[in-house]
Amino acid sequence: MPQDTPSTAPETHEDVATFPPSEAFAAQANAHADLYDRAAGDSTAFWAEQARELVTWKTPFTETLDWSGAPVARWFADGTLNAAYNAVDRHVLAGNGDRVALHFEGEPGDTRTVTYAELQREVSRAANVLSSLGVEAGDRVVVYLPMIVEAVVAMLACARVGAPHSVVFGGFSSDALRSRIADAEAKVVITADGGYRRGSAAALKPAVDAALETPEGGPASPVQHVLVVRRTGQDVAWTEGRDIWWHDAVEAADVQHTPVWVEAEHPLFILYTSGTTGKPKGILHTTGGYLTQAAYTHLNVFDLKPETDVYWCTADVGWVTGHTYVVYGPLLNGATQVIYEGTPDTPHQGRWWELVEKYEVSILYTAPTAIRTCMKWGEEIPGRFDLSSLRLLGSVGESINPEAWKWYRRVIGSGTTPIVDTWWQTETGAIMISPLPGVTAAKPGSAQRPLPGIAAEVVDDSGVPVADGAGGYLVVTEPWPAMLRGIWGDLERFKDTYWSRFRHLYFAGDGAKKDDDGDIWLLGRVDDVMNVSGHRLSTTEIESALVSHEIVAEAAVVGASDETTGQAVVAFVILRSEFAADADPATVQEQLRAHVAQQIGPIAKPRKILVVPELPKTRSGKIMRRLLRDVAEHRTVGDATTLADSSVMDLIASGLATPA
Ligand code: ATP
Ligand code: MG
Repeated sequence: MPQDTPSTAPETHEDVATFPPSEAFAAQANAHADLYDRAAGDSTAFWAEQARELVTWKTPFTETLDWSGAPVARWFADGTLNAAYNAVDRHVLAGNGDRVALHFEGEPGDTRTVTYAELQREVSRAANVLSSLGVEAGDRVVVYLPMIVEAVVAMLACARVGAPHSVVFGGFSSDALRSRIADAEAKVVITADGGYRRGSAAALKPAVDAALETPEGGPASPVQHVLVVRRTGQDVAWTEGRDIWWHDAVEAADVQHTPVWVEAEHPLFILYTSGTTGKPKGILHTTGGYLTQAAYTHLNVFDLKPETDVYWCTADVGWVTGHTYVVYGPLLNGATQVIYEGTPDTPHQGRWWELVEKYEVSILYTAPTAIRTCMKWGEEIPGRFDLSSLRLLGSVGESINPEAWKWYRRVIGSGTTPIVDTWWQTETGAIMISPLPGVTAAKPGSAQRPLPGIAAEVVDDSGVPVADGAGGYLVVTEPWPAMLRGIWGDLERFKDTYWSRFRHLYFAGDGAKKDDDGDIWLLGRVDDVMNVSGHRLSTTEIESALVSHEIVAEAAVVGASDETTGQAVVAFVILRSEFAADADPATVQEQLRAHVAQQIGPIAKPRKILVVPELPKTRSGKIMRRLLRDVAEHRTVGDATTLADSSVMDLIASGLATPA
């Protein structure tokens, strides 16, 4: 293994049990092993086939991939289509207008059911409203909404008129909103008076008002109109001529609207990355290739049966999972899905499981952070609900620790469901590495193989693929349909960030390793890899070792500079609630240090382990290790604007004042 590879000890995974699919599941699965063979020969032709099968084109394409302008790809470039037509109208035309598209559940318990035919009318009206406000193909629209039906309608209405949307997470501040509006030069903002969060009405409109104010000496906002959805009924300030009630405008609009047919490479959306490692990047996605891979992955990775499944992806539309696996993927495939406005613990910690029981959810897609939080709360909570409708579970956002994987399958998946651990990024647009349910024997903690049609590798420092059993950097070696087409307005940053580390390879920024079977394990961000006495240690592996101890629910590991060892491992842990009350910090530290030494080796033993009540996370639930590193090195905490809860850092800092 090369000296600098971000890997510790492969033996932690070697005794891993695999979970082959049941015969019954495999027999009914959408994907079969031959999908790999079909894609293996000519992957470009394979994608063309998927694009013809899964997407409806106004003008069929004759060109598949044009890579002459690398690293900006053009897929299906001479075809034309419309994303909203594909997501909605064609299902109505095919006679499925009565099928439920959305089961909406508000946090206070209000509900709304929307069929595909109703969705078509709503989206058409909203598209007419946008046109009446002067929004034309190519104009940008910012969407700043809670997880309500109108968020989906707004995105599709933009797509219908060919206006790229830029969704800004409803929990972001006015500053974050202002910079994203300015960067995209948005003409219209679609927002709400507020939304429900943790049992109360949280205002949104004031943040928009503040974001649109002209700063002293600064430029005026590019925004001409603000459409305001009435969700909570709270008072809002009103700017005459600029602000318009969504319901007034939409109710007055015609239910007929002809979609604007766009070229395959027409921009569909701009979306900023989570900001886990630094300043968010405005990632640009276009239409034809993105939709092809969204539909293909959703169909095969989640094994969707549109007539019978009830699908639920818990992601907010403010991050990429909400784009590809709430809006475009499921709707293109004609799925029936649940969307939920609120938090998992309002009004009680069983809310998600109550919803699974109520809607008989069969496919659930969520993030490891949510699973670990449920582990912390205790399994008797999901135990109170009937979860027998679930037949497939998914995970995304971070590596899922093997212990959390097994808990997820045993407690939520009744010990039988396949689990798909899906690796991808805002930049990749859709899932890239994942088991195929019904085909792959799953390995807890590993995302395993690139999907058929995708070429990903683990390479060493000089870009050469590593041998099985070795670690390195995750790269994508061939262009893929849903790949980003750039960073909005900054081609140089695009080339620099992803294409300069290795020649002709897309560098994802993540460390990974291949096990002895050639399966891929994600090891954490390359930026987070620690160097202790010349050994490269992976955050993910040490965290998984900590989570495998029965008292630990969540763990975050960072390297803090140390005079003797270069870097020392510092761990932050959250205990499971049943152990939290009478845990003695010194005993916990000794127990866990010994456990890591036994699981991985003495070199990985954290120098310090701190028990904390919470970890700093982004709005999409990822641990922000760079902030913990600041704490561990006694520095001022860096940019925390994308943090979900800013008080967490104070809690952790005050805990640090009394060292364990
Ligand atoms: P930024 O790029 O601004 O730092 P971010 O990388 O957190 O933010 P996203 O695009 O939302 O923004 O997240 C993609 C990243 O999430 C991946 O690069 C990887 O680090 C992590 N990730 C996603 N899915 C998985 C998975 N299944 N296993 C391991 N890591 C994952
Ligand atoms: Mg990233």
